[in-house]
Amino acid sequence: MESYDALLASIAPVAGQNTRTILDPATGAVVGQAPVHTLEDLEQAIASAAEAQPAWAAAGHDARSAALLRAADAVERNAEELAQLLSREQGKPLNGPNARFEVGACAAWLRTAATTVLEPETVVDDGTTRAELHYRPIGVVGAIGPWNWPMMITIWQIAPALRMGNTAVVKPSKMTPLSVLALIKVLNEELPEGILHVVAGDRHVGARLAEHPAIGKVMFTGSTAAGREIIRSSADTVKRLTLELGGNDAGIVLPDANPQSIAQDLFWGAFINTGQTCAALKRLYVHDSIYDAVCTELTAVAKAMPMGIGLDENNVLGPLQNKAQYDVVATLVEAARDSGARILTGGNPDPEQPGYFYPATLIADIDNDNPLVTEEQFGPALPIIRYSTVDDAVQMANALDVGLGASVWSTDPAAARDVAARLQAGTVWINKHGAVDPRVPFGGAKQSGYGLEFGTEGLKALGIPQVING
Ligand code: NAD
Repeated sequence: MESYDALLASIAPVAGQNTRTILDPATGAVVGQAPVHTLEDLEQAIASAAEAQPAWAAAGHDARSAALLRAADAVERNAEELAQLLSREQGKPLNGPNARFEVGACAAWLRTAATTVLEPETVVDDGTTRAELHYRPIGVVGAIGPWNWPMMITIWQIAPALRMGNTAVVKPSKMTPLSVLALIKVLNEELPEGILHVVAGDRHVGARLAEHPAIGKVMFTGSTAAGREIIRSSADTVKRLTLELGGNDAGIVLPDANPQSIAQDLFWGAFINTGQTCAALKRLYVHDSIYDAVCTELTAVAKAMPMGIGLDENNVLGPLQNKAQYDVVATLVEAARDSGARILTGGNPDPEQPGYFYPATLIADIDNDNPLVTEEQFGPALPIIRYSTVDDAVQMANALDVGLGASVWSTDPAAARDVAARLQAGTVWINKHGAVDPRVPFGGAKQSGYGLEFGTEGLKALGIPQVING
């Protein structure tokens, strides 16, 4: 692909297809037209993926790894065009941990999925029994994704699926179809025909994918509510599921932490992708003794971060991706203000400004049962809650029914690990938040989902365990 325009043209709807006009959330300008695929398109994609699957499985790990590495090269060849499209459609800036970072992560996750080794395991070998555990391809995998990190999450779902000898059908969010269509177009420059499909339809297309008898597994990333629907849709065919669902991550700042040295990492833990991140810091519990200092340092960092149109190279924070999400954030922050909480910075969006820009907002002196704390607000707002004993902080952090990530901030590694062990979350980071790594398993506790992605565990999740006992 030679240019941004060529990339966009390559995914344009064909004659007769229904289309959706995609608008830039920063400006309202038209980004492009996306096809709206139908249930018939879904049937064709699944049939093609099912037909291609046996040969792909038979090709073996080395050939599949080589193809995924070539696909990573293709992403890198087209990185700037992909980042531009992602920035326009999703809203995230090119710079900072945003669009270019996301495209780079796609290549990195592909490479790690290609090179991670999963050997059969000898479970028992005692002279009379020899039992080995193998992982066989499942068949056709359905991948359903959200709009916040549309390219990266698609890769998280499909790279291990393909590596393990499955073929895949992807259903992107209707908010960000162009990014995923373009990514898959680029991947398919290098992948064998028929193994990777994208069907950019509405919710009912996703629902059909989740119940379809020819789909062996669904990789789902999205809200907990949609996750429950997918569990129901998949029940009749007893489908395998990996569910990466909503979160509302807590961070606990212990009394020995240094407010100045953690402020920058706290900020990005909370505000990465303008807060539209499942495993972002959403509730910060700070010990009374350093509460004011943490508030002061965080406010200084937040005020210095440029927010604006994603294509402007200076910006590191962008708009909310859509009006519905903007309204959720605005309503929760206003309700928090009305309840008597103190807005340290932000909270006053400019009604004249086009686009769904909501300023980075810090809220102090807020009760732990305020809806801004208890609901997944999924935007650029961080409530900071005061605590006086670590037991109280742990109890408040564990009080919700979700548990994706959490973090502990301290200069004492042993104390931090002790607190980490008491937190109910799939990942607990120490002195950082939300740092995902393609080699390290990632998944939720409680209603944040089940199943692990990444690393060897992630490959296992895309295989059917088979015991050979002889
Ligand atoms: P969403 O649940 O509304 O939609 C996600 C996808 O599911 C979309 O493609 C949508 O069309 C599809 N979908 C919706 N209902 C469906 C159904 N009944 N059957 C099949 N498909 C269906 O989520 P969203 O608003 O796009 O994304 C934000 C949510 O995603 C947040 O809750 C966030 O925490 C979560 N998320 C979680 C992770 C994680 O790794 N745990 C990562 C990113 C986002």
